[in-house]
Order: sequence, then C-alpha cells, then structure tokens
Amino acid sequence: MTSTTNSHVTSDKSHKDHMGTAIKLAKYALDHGETPVACIFVHSITNKIVAYGMNDTNNSLTGIAHAEFMAIEQIKSRFPQDQVGFNQFCSDCIVYVTVEPCIMCASALKQLNLKKIYFGCGNDRFGGNGTVLSIHQDKSTLNHEGTLYEQESIPGLYRREAIMLLRYFYVKENKRSPNPRIKLERNLDKDNFPQINWSQYMSKNLFGQEFGLTNLSHFQTMDDLEEYKIIDWDLIDSHYDTLIDDLTKEINQFKLNEFKRIKI
Ligand SMILES: [Zn+2]
Repeated sequence: MTSTTNSHVTSDKSHKDHMGTAIKLAKYALDHGETPVACIFVHSITNKIVAYGMNDTNNSLTGIAHAEFMAIEQIKSRFPQDQVGFNQFCSDCIVYVTVEPCIMCASALKQLNLKKIYFGCGNDRFGGNGTVLSIHQDKSTLNHEGTLYEQESIPGLYRREAIMLLRYFYVKENKRSPNPRIKLERNLDKDNFPQINWSQYMSKNLFGQEFGLTNLSHFQTMDDLEEYKIIDWDLIDSHYDTLIDDLTKEINQFKLNEFKRIKI
C-alpha cells in the first residue's frame, strides 16, 4: 500500500502517453543510425519513468545491446551491490517497448519479475512475448525468487507507428547497400499493416481489462483499436533532439529514498 502523501509525486500519464515516449525515443534512435527500437521502464507505484533504453547494436557493434538491457543497466546502477533492492525495485516496474522483446530480452524481463510488458508491434523473427515463443507464459522461466508467475503481455499501443519506424529504417539500410533501390522511398508502404493476432499475446479477459469490453470485437477480428488506426505522423516524423536530456532529468528526479518512504 502507499501512503496518503504520494499523490504529489504520482504522474498522471496514461499507458498511451508512456508508449508515446518510447516511440519518440525509437525515432531518436533512427535519427542516430540505429534500429528504431526503444523502451522506458515506469515505476508502477508512482507512474514515473525510472529508466530508458534504445537499441545500440550498430553503434556499439554488439549484437546484444538491446534497448531493454540498457534500461536494466540504468536501474542496476542505482543499486550498487544491492541485489535484493534491485530485484524488489524491478518487481515494481512496467515496461513500455516499441517492439515485442526478443527471446533473450523476454527471458531477462521474466526473470526480473516484471509483471507487465506493453509493446507496440510484434517481432516476427525473434519475439519472445508471444510471436515466436511465449516466455511470459512459460512455466520453466521463474523469477529471481524461483517463483512461477504469468507475466502480462499487452501489444498494440502505437503499433502502426512502431512498424512505420522499422520500415523507414529498412529503406535507409537498403539505400546504403551496393545496389540501392532508388524508388524504394516512393514505394514505402504507409497504408497496409498486418493483422494483429491478439490471442497470441494475451487472453480475451486481459484484453477486456486493458482495452474495455466495448473493444472486444477487435480481439476476434485481429484488428487495431480505433484510436490506433490513424497514424500519428507528427509523432514519428518529428525530431527529438532534447529527449535524452529530458529523460535523464526526469529519471534523476526520481529519488530512491522518496520511493522507499512512500512504499509502506
Ligand atoms: Zn532483445
């Protein structure tokens, strides 16, 4: 339970707002030559951002420098030599990531006892939260206490924007190849999106809880929610030069002792 004094430290941002921040960060990654995949970790009790990460595989030349690991490292740095504190803190975090975690990251997030993973689009080749494997429901992946639990996996937030950022990236990559396909940009598909098979990722019950019973028909038709059908082009075409500074400031404002005080 939380104390009555925490209202002033609780952010009123919605899940959509948080995913919007992750999408902006993915665009930042794209603008800096990276695969546009990014995440933020939000402390569920205060609803504040406590870590962020973006793909760094191209710059670091390390195949495992995924967004989720960057964020995990940021949290870890708050708990030098305090594994218990780190584990407890992770248990209270929610992840918002633009693309479904790969199998490696999904396994790490599950072991860290993260209860909820929101993501934009599925990861057709490596997805570990329902597309290729379902680590979130896997009965052999336990948390750090050796306990079995089912992690909630919730796709679809800004799914089309997440897909468009990946399409932009592949167009750029192809232009760098020895035989650039000049007309590719013109042919960039902005209208067609694959269906989303919600049941791969979540139960119908969870869908109803998250998105409301009035939206249940989308679960059957494998369609995006109405509010996510029209692409927010401003969101993915803008540049976010100050975003890293802003996020760093926000994260530094989150004081661990404050968090400890309100968590009774
Ligand atoms: Zn990964």
